[in-house]
Amino acid sequence: MKSNNYIPFNKPYLSGKETEYINDAVESGKISGNGKYTKLCQDYFQNRYGFYKCLLTTSCTDALEMAAILLNIKEGDEVIMPSFTFVSTANAFVLRGAKIVFADSKMDEPNLDVNRIETLITPLTKAIVVVHYAGVACDMDAIMDIANRHNLYVVEDAAQAIDSHYIGANGVKKPLGSIGHLAAFSFHETKNIISGEGGMLVVNDPTFEMRSEIIWEKGTNRSAFFRGEVDKYAWVDIGSSFLPSEIVAAFLYAQLEHLDSIQQKRKLLWNMFFNLLSNSALESKIKMPFIPHYAENNAHMFYLVCDNINTRTKLIEVLKKHNFHSVFHYLSLHNSPLYYQRHDGRELFNSDKYAETLLRLPLFYELSVQNVKDICKVISEFCTTSEV
Ligand SMILES: *Cc1c(COP(=O)(O)O)cnc(C)c1O
Repeated sequence: MKSNNYIPFNKPYLSGKETEYINDAVESGKISGNGKYTKLCQDYFQNRYGFYKCLLTTSCTDALEMAAILLNIKEGDEVIMPSFTFVSTANAFVLRGAKIVFADSKMDEPNLDVNRIETLITPLTKAIVVVHYAGVACDMDAIMDIANRHNLYVVEDAAQAIDSHYIGANGVKKPLGSIGHLAAFSFHETKNIISGEGGMLVVNDPTFEMRSEIIWEKGTNRSAFFRGEVDKYAWVDIGSSFLPSEIVAAFLYAQLEHLDSIQQKRKLLWNMFFNLLSNSALESKIKMPFIPHYAENNAHMFYLVCDNINTRTKLIEVLKKHNFHSVFHYLSLHNSPLYYQRHDGRELFNSDKYAETLLRLPLFYELSVQNVKDICKVISEFCTTSEV
């Protein structure tokens, strides 16, 4: 069996109205940031998910850098986060001089192991940054409890977690990004909802409200000035140019109008992968993603965990031969060229395990049901016949 067309790992989905809204923004004569489309997007997120305050940014990386500034992270502060994550999670805090204390992943899934956080806390610890890997929630009740007892801030790296929820012990569902003091989302073209490059800072703790706007607008009180709250527009704090242009916001708004249909299709495909590959005959080579009972699945990513790195390398080759592009990612950050000498030497066994064995399969809106069946057939044959 060989499919004729090359199936990429990701293909950006266009809802159809992107250029219409961009034209509208251009014709309105207002294309710098914080205009009509920026407000439409921010209001959408605030209303739909109950986020206290949303600020669009040019990337999730920028939103994380804003979070580090807002928390007043300075030289010598310690920030706890998983090692199995994208570089921006750590880089934002390293830019402010923080020491990163990397935590290991759980045995059964890549999210950070809550049971190991508390031993990493010292008098210098300022914050815990959680990453909802694959849009699957971290155990937020446990994390918020630890943070409250030790007086720490919690930042959610929710880059992959749009439209996903945490289900608390009391059964109440909370949107990811609404639980920590601050949260950061990404609209990079590989995420569920996109604007090319793009992101959003969510402020859930009202004490950060005023300062977040100032940092967002280059350290000025421009927003307060235009609301008539101050009579001079001045440089009052540090900041940067974190807000995207209206062109980016217009693109994003066209995507938001299709959020439900995008999510529905991605979940359908994700469930097909899960059902077709959940077969005990394959278990010696590949394991299915594990979704804890407190987590929802927003179908950001379908990944497999291979039994070892050789199986993964071979499987990538076999899929490629059939024109399917699969990828792996995240080399543990504690072993990275930038950070390994600063790491305290603790072994992070599970993080390294996922770095060596996790494989992401193609998953995007326009992937067809037949594509999923074909990919699963190749994987099944590989697992039952390969000598690896
Ligand atoms: C994609 C991603 C980022 C970075 O997002 P950008 O919008 O590209 O800056 C950060 N953290 C995680 C976990 C991501 O998946």
